[in-house]
Amino acid sequence: MRLVDSHAHLDEFDDLKPVISRAKRVGVVAIVAVGASLETNMKTLSIAEEYSGYVYPALGAHPWNISSKPEMVEENFRLMERRVDDVVAIGEVGLDFWIKADKELQVKVFRRVAEFAKRNRKPLLIHSRGAWAEAFEIVESVGVEDAVFHWYSGPEEVLEDILNSGYYISATPAAQYSRYHIKAVEIAPLDRMLLETDCPVVYRGVKSDPSFIVKTLEAVSAIKKVPVEEVAEKTTQNAIKLLKLPL
Ligand SMILES: [Zn+2]
Repeated sequence: MRLVDSHAHLDEFDDLKPVISRAKRVGVVAIVAVGASLETNMKTLSIAEEYSGYVYPALGAHPWNISSKPEMVEENFRLMERRVDDVVAIGEVGLDFWIKADKELQVKVFRRVAEFAKRNRKPLLIHSRGAWAEAFEIVESVGVEDAVFHWYSGPEEVLEDILNSGYYISATPAAQYSRYHIKAVEIAPLDRMLLETDCPVVYRGVKSDPSFIVKTLEAVSAIKKVPVEEVAEKTTQNAIKLLKLPL
């Protein structure tokens, strides 16, 4: 089986060697390492260089990181512009209306980053917690061609819009137990789904790493009543196609 972890925060691990070898052991053939800020983007780029051909970078501007220092946001944009040819996607980006950050600023940065992705024909990897409809509207109005609504757990109506517009969602290990995420995995067809871990997120008390993709795989297989081999094959093909991975 070949698996792709389409969303991992590898910059948050101190020692990546054992993490990568565990991933290889369970069949992970590629990891998309997402950045969230200037600092984590730079770290992500250097990790991708170190594990070239296995770790593919995406550069982002996460809503949790944008409000505090506007000058960092600008410098981050300059980094994205310089390195856009070296990345497979723009992410993690998006909106989060459950946090106490300035909504207007979040919208402004997200719109700008969506326009940047469109101009450079890169898929967007989107965080949309508590702002599912707003995030969708921005992506659609900007005319972004490819987007993944990562760990989608929002309303069904917005999910229908996402799918009708040709966009994807990604599933995490929370598909084992989270009601709203399970519902989304039930609704979205397999040809619009990617697997991921969002590691090092802690799921039910355990810190994840890319090998936890197996938990995502098993959960999706159980929800959709499709054999794990088929889920693995389809979602890996989706990732290869969408992110243009040279696999
Ligand atoms: Zn994430």
